[in-house]
Amino acid sequence: MFGAIEAGGTKFVCAVGTNPDDMKLTQFPTTSPEATTASAIDFLREQSQRELKAVGIGSFGPVDLRLASPTFGYITSTPKSGWQNYDFAGAVRTALGVPVGFDTDVNAAALGEARWGAAQSLSDFLYLTIGTGIGGGAVVNGRVLHGLLHPEMGHIRIPHDLKSDSYPGSCPFHGDCLEGLASGPAMQQRWGMPPEGLPANHAAWVLEAHYLALGLVTWVCTLSPRRILLGGGVMRQEWLFEMIREDLGRLLNGYVRAKELMENLNQYVIPPKLGNRSGIVGALVLAEQAYQKQQDLASP
Ligand code: ZN
Repeated sequence: MFGAIEAGGTKFVCAVGTNPDDMKLTQFPTTSPEATTASAIDFLREQSQRELKAVGIGSFGPVDLRLASPTFGYITSTPKSGWQNYDFAGAVRTALGVPVGFDTDVNAAALGEARWGAAQSLSDFLYLTIGTGIGGGAVVNGRVLHGLLHPEMGHIRIPHDLKSDSYPGSCPFHGDCLEGLASGPAMQQRWGMPPEGLPANHAAWVLEAHYLALGLVTWVCTLSPRRILLGGGVMRQEWLFEMIREDLGRLLNGYVRAKELMENLNQYVIPPKLGNRSGIVGALVLAEQAYQKQQDLASP
């Protein structure tokens, strides 16, 4: 049995189990790191009857994923009050005494979709969440891309025409990066209404689809994913998918000669199959990987 924690800035989801059809789940609001982590540990202990083999954590960030780093497993420079420089993985490992797999929330979601969702058997794909923030996890050659730290796909710079959109952007670091222009809070500030309150024919969606398509064209041209999964609260407005596909096709303009992009965009840009469970299911995969790694190290 494995434990899983999906740590978000507003809520924690926890689970014990082995796969999406065999999981016990709970969730609670994110408060202080100590209190929230203690609630997660209590749940994992109670539900597993102390038979946990490993725990996986998919966390909001930024986080330190460098195995050789003294602050591996920490949440680092988050703007979220109280959570800066918090040894998250260490706290869980110490309390439960089992191996802990640790990655970003979006990388965990990508792993969940790869194992049980809409990216099974795909060696290269992208998972993006568009909600309170924008983040992306890339699987490249069958492995989650980490690089120097981990990608920060929400913070890419995209063309911003101030004449047609005078909103300066909401990112505290960059102003009008992609997240600053196209996250849920950016939409709310620009239009004075949360995304779910804006009707399908509102001009907000034309702009939103355009900004997201600009992000997608960047990743199509840099990472060459075989599919792109778009999750998160903003993407629950289903009409947005077709608008993004149309804009993406127009921006690519027939240059990338793949059938997936020229004829089958409706199979290329799609929602995650696991819905809002991609992340917690992916945290189970992280737990399994951590367990396997420990077994490999222990075997002669
Ligand atoms: Zn930014």
